[in-house]
Amino acid sequence: MKKKKKTSIIANEKIDNSKLIKASKIILELQQDLKKYINKGCGPFLAAIYDSNGNLVAKAANNVVKKSCSNNHAEINAIKLAEKKLGTYDLSPYDLSLYVTSEPCMMCLGGIMWSGIKAVYYGVPSERVTKITGFDECLRPD
Ligand SMILES: [Zn+2]
Repeated sequence: MKKKKKTSIIANEKIDNSKLIKASKIILELQQDLKKYINKGCGPFLAAIYDSNGNLVAKAANNVVKKSCSNNHAEINAIKLAEKKLGTYDLSPYDLSLYVTSEPCMMCLGGIMWSGIKAVYYGVPSERVTKITGFDECLRPD
């Protein structure tokens, strides 16, 4: 018997199915792209920021070890690239969404909120990341 796929969605607004289908496609592409970044010495996390028309604004991997910088998580690196590209620290007028291969940590959640990103979609929940890596990134809001 095939086990039913378990999916959970946390949202502060009603999400239509087309956004979830789009997010699944983008996250799958990020997961497929990841090996390329790992081969360049990056960490196993990749994030991308898209505008509401589906245009890629920024894509970046975790490079904490490569750059010896503890806050160079994929989400933060992608936000920095988007801000540089758009020439502003406030991304809120651009209706941007961030897609990431795994659930953002507390630092990244804070950075995402400060950046003005409108929506976040992630692939692997933090509990699974902790099981795989043995690294617990601590408490998160519900
Ligand atoms: Zn993070």
